[in-house]
Amino acid sequence: MTAAPTTELVAYDDAVRRYDPVLGIEVHVELGTRTKMFCAAEVEFGGEPNTQTTPVSLGLPGALPVVNGTAVEYAIRIGLALNCQIAESCRFARKNYFYPDVPKNFQTSQYDEPIAYDGWIDIELKDGEIFRVEIERAHMEEDAGKNTHVGGATGRIHGAEYSLVDYNRAGIPLVEIVTKPIEGAGERAPEVARAYVQTLRDIFRALGVSEARMERGNVRADVNVSLRTSPDAPLGTRTETKNVNSFRSVERTVRHEISRQAAVLDAGQAVVQETRHWHEDTGITTSGRVKSDAEDYRYFPEPDLVPVAPSREWVEEIRASLPEMPAARRRRLQKEWGYADAEMRDVVNAGAVDLIEATVAGGTSPAGARKWWMGELARRAKQADVALASMAVTPAQIAELEQLVAAGTINDKLARQVLDGVLAGEGDPAAVVRSRGLEVVSDDGALLAAIDEALAAQPDVVEKVRGGNQGPVGAIIGAVMKATKGQADAKRVRELVLERIGQ
Ligand code: MN
Repeated sequence: MTAAPTTELVAYDDAVRRYDPVLGIEVHVELGTRTKMFCAAEVEFGGEPNTQTTPVSLGLPGALPVVNGTAVEYAIRIGLALNCQIAESCRFARKNYFYPDVPKNFQTSQYDEPIAYDGWIDIELKDGEIFRVEIERAHMEEDAGKNTHVGGATGRIHGAEYSLVDYNRAGIPLVEIVTKPIEGAGERAPEVARAYVQTLRDIFRALGVSEARMERGNVRADVNVSLRTSPDAPLGTRTETKNVNSFRSVERTVRHEISRQAAVLDAGQAVVQETRHWHEDTGITTSGRVKSDAEDYRYFPEPDLVPVAPSREWVEEIRASLPEMPAARRRRLQKEWGYADAEMRDVVNAGAVDLIEATVAGGTSPAGARKWWMGELARRAKQADVALASMAVTPAQIAELEQLVAAGTINDKLARQVLDGVLAGEGDPAAVVRSRGLEVVSDDGALLAAIDEALAAQPDVVEKVRGGNQGPVGAIIGAVMKATKGQADAKRVRELVLERIGQ
């Protein structure tokens, strides 16, 4: 069963003028534990298929699970960072369904007793506005294996000739974080969704509970969207777009669903409650399966595991050990660096906070570090269409470059040539200066030779300057800079030119 095909989308602006979007986001994060959630199989990305398994993660008869204590600690860390209550006691449950990537025919998850519940997190939007997202729960569960459908055009099971299954991922610990309905975002719903997932990713990294690499699927979002005619109206029927795995896709998914559902509603049809798939290439969602209600899964308490009852002492110990959260860190750094709100926002949006922090640690002034990363380097990154952090230059090298400018060894113009060399893999800035011969010419003798030549070539300028008009002196300085390939100190050249002319 699929929704009646609705090809015409409603323009986004029109859709959000007439409908009020409500979001619900479920984020799964793979925990960076050494071993799996319920057994000692080691977890490592990129292993040969089916080499990281045990009888437990393969669901063999008689195999008994044991809870990974580190995973529980990580789940509590996440719960506390999201301002949640931590359950005094909670249980695992079996979520029953048949699919080849779940060898036990059930996923061990948590149902009515999550380890963490009732939290909130403040997210910062691009213009600095703070938006609060309420957290319903954060629960522990295990990941499924990975199916690979071979022979079809889309990589999905439909149309495939056969399927392969890799159980390396089966049983990796996950924490699933579920929001309460996110209301009041209005036209900013796509941006809110993106900022929320990004904020969670930053928190996971700060907590050290996961590498949180989106491109490896460490963090995956299920994005629920519904529309209603006004904020006072009851919630509309929602769709759930599964496994969206980049920030940009999260934003685009929400945007697309708003336009699509508005078209369905405008046509007098009902939105079908279903899961949907996001297609990165075409930028649309398509129908998956009609959404199962919870009762279809026949949840029941896992009989092979005792309840998890973290002592209050342990919870407080974990709370005391939490690192500085990313938002607090950004506020602290902004104060230390003396950046204006808009400057800091640009730095954050460009993903340059860590880079600037490391550059400042290398001895550069905060203003100098910002000048490089947000100026020359941001421009080059944009040109090459790569992230700032993936440029082939380190904060230490930028700090060295800035020191060479400060010491007068090179000027700003030469510094850009030195940067060319560093980016081309020619070594650290000092080495590039040496190998490319880029030092500022500070030897007056060499400068004077070039100056005399320039003066002789432009006698009319010399006349004007002698007559008391210093304006045209720039033409002489320009000729000298050209003759020295930009390697002269322009200020010193000016002094010498005026001295020579007798001013
Ligand atoms: Mn889940």
